[in-house]
Amino acid sequence: SAVIELERVSKRYPGGVHALREVDLVVETGELLAIVGPSGSGKSTMLQLIGTLDRPTSGTVRIAGHDAGRLDDRQLSALRAQRIGFVFQQFHLAPGVNARDNVADGLLYSGLSLPERRRRADRALDRVGLAHRADHLPHQLSGGERQRVAVARAVAGEPSLLLADEPTGNLDSVAGAAVMSLLGDLHDDGTTVLVITHDREIARALPRRVWIRDGVIGHD
Ligand code: ADP
Ligand code: ADP
Repeated sequence: SAVIELERVSKRYPGGVHALREVDLVVETGELLAIVGPSGSGKSTMLQLIGTLDRPTSGTVRIAGHDAGRLDDRQLSALRAQRIGFVFQQFHLAPGVNARDNVADGLLYSGLSLPERRRRADRALDRVGLAHRADHLPHQLSGGERQRVAVARAVAGEPSLLLADEPTGNLDSVAGAAVMSLLGDLHDDGTTVLVITHDREIARALPRRVWIRDGVIGHD
């Protein structure tokens, strides 16, 4: 079944920028794909709509079978918390909070107790190969390790969909390759993974690419 269904999705920002034009996209459960295009082409806008962080001007966004347009903001928060993990270029870890609790805080809205959240955090850190860094603070970790902690945080709640926005953008090529390899492992374990990138090399290594330019998408 489809995790993402976009039907004739358009987004026009106040001021007139037409960031997406009648985009159709279906992503099936278990896919690993890249949305690839140059700066300003509409990639982040697409991620915001798929992540239900923003609403389209027209068209339908369906995530895990839910029509996002029929849900209010509270219901969308719940949908995100249960279904979607986010990874960003800037890691977005809380400073002064160790890796375990950065990951556990990603489960704040799960209703789980703190000890259970920490147990799941340790499991997620183990999955990304960082069990031995659980007590480290972000500034004690390399950039690549910080991004792997961010990935652990994103998948600790076992989301249906992992959205990664330029996940290697702040990393050197070795650390970037490690993060991409980790996303590949998560995909092998059944997670649906969508990567946004302007980097054609990264896109080429993935099983599916969707190209975007001036808000219009094409497939290869
Ligand atoms: P990308 O992620 O590919 O760089 P974006 O989705 O960020 O592209 O931007 C697509 C277009 O929409 C650009 O012209 C950008 O300047 C514009 N845009 C993005 N966000 C906003 C916003 N909040 N308000 C107005 N224009 C925006
Ligand atoms: P990225 O390409 O990594 O998304 P941007 O600098 O394009 O980085 O966007 C950063 C933030 O600014 C995003 O939330 C985007 O929606 C917003 N933004 C981008 N372009 C514009 C714009 N022209 N006007 C207002 N907000 C914008």
